[in-house]
Order: sequence, then structure tokens, then C-alpha cells
Amino acid sequence: MRLLKDRILRDGRIARGGILKVDEFLNHQIDVTLLNEIGKEFKRRFKDKEVTKILTIESSGIGIACITAQYFDVPVVFAKKSKSKNINGEVYQSTVYSFTHQNFNEVIVSKNILRKNDKVLIIDDFLANGKALLGLLDITGQAGADVLGIGIVIEKSFQPGGEAIRARGIQLESLAVIESMDESSLKFKE
Ligand code: 5GP
Repeated sequence: MRLLKDRILRDGRIARGGILKVDEFLNHQIDVTLLNEIGKEFKRRFKDKEVTKILTIESSGIGIACITAQYFDVPVVFAKKSKSKNINGEVYQSTVYSFTHQNFNEVIVSKNILRKNDKVLIIDDFLANGKALLGLLDITGQAGADVLGIGIVIEKSFQPGGEAIRARGIQLESLAVIESMDESSLKFKE
């Protein structure tokens, strides 16, 4: 998606540890006009899918998922990062390692909210090692819901997440794929 790639080149900042900071338009300040175009593009790429729910993970996926959901006319569910160890069986739960915070989080979705007959589109901001997506797939698996596709705003293909997800046969659409980056350069996969 040209508009997104141009914005990454203009306002993205490469931090240490293979992290791209996009606080100017996606992760802190949000450019809603850009997000609208991102939502439209996800709708175009998944136009034949009869999605019933969009699933994302707290917190940076929520804004993207909400705007995208307007084009599908479906609700958004976000997996909550729960501190509680006192789980009573009314939630689906998975453990997710955070690439940016370098810690483990328990993420939960209420059993009332995600159901067996749901057809899910998963949306997130970044795909790096794939741990966040694997956690969400674990949760949809526990629910018995179908995953019709995964939409990612920025995939870093020099990390192994994309390959692992595609190997599962799930339609994965990333709007900008970064092949390589270091402190002085960033290259997109064409
Ligand atoms: P993964 O679970 O695929 O390793 O990492 C995905 C999650 O980590 C995303 O939800 C995102 O919040 C965060 N993340 C991974 N890589 C980056 C990055 O380069 N920049 C930012 N801002 N977040 C990232």
C-alpha cells in the first residue's frame, strides 16, 4: 500500500532491537485519515469473506480494528491482557510473549463474546515473531471459531512470524512488508 509505505519512510523511526517506531501516525498519535484508507484496503483484500467478528489484541490493534470493522459492519473483540491468575473457566486464555516489552502476558477473551459459529478476521499493527497472532489463533481454536484471514499493517519479513503463519494455510495480508532495516536504511519487499 503506497500511501502507508510513504508514511513509514517519512515518519517511521528505526530503534534498536529491530523495532520500527510509528508513534507519529499509528502507535501513539493516530492519523485517522490514513487508518480509514487502511480499513478500506483490508476490506478490498478480504472482500469475499463473510466475517462476523474482527479480533485483535490490546492495545495498539484496537484503533485499526475499529476502523476496519466499519467496512465489514461487524463488532470488534480485543483480547485483554489480564493480570489475574484466578481464571474461572469463563474465558479463553493464552500466554503471549511481547516482542516490544519482553514479557509474558496472559490474554483472555470471554466465552460469551467469541463463539463456535464466529467467522473471524484477525487484525494487528505489526507482525514480527508471530507470538501475538499465535496467541489469538490459540484463543479462536479454543472457541472453535473459524479464522478467515489475518490483516497486518506492517510485517517485518526478516523475522519469522509471517512464514510460520502462512505455513498454516491462513490468508495473511500485510499492507507494508519490510524486508530489511537498520539504523540508516529501510527496504520494502515489492
Ligand atoms: P510478534 O508477536 O509478532 O513478535 O510481535 C507483534 C506485536 O509486537 C505487535 O502487536 C506489536 O504491538 C509489537 N511489535 C512487534 N514489532 C514491532 C515494531 O517493530 N514496532 C512496534 N511499534 N511494535 C512492534
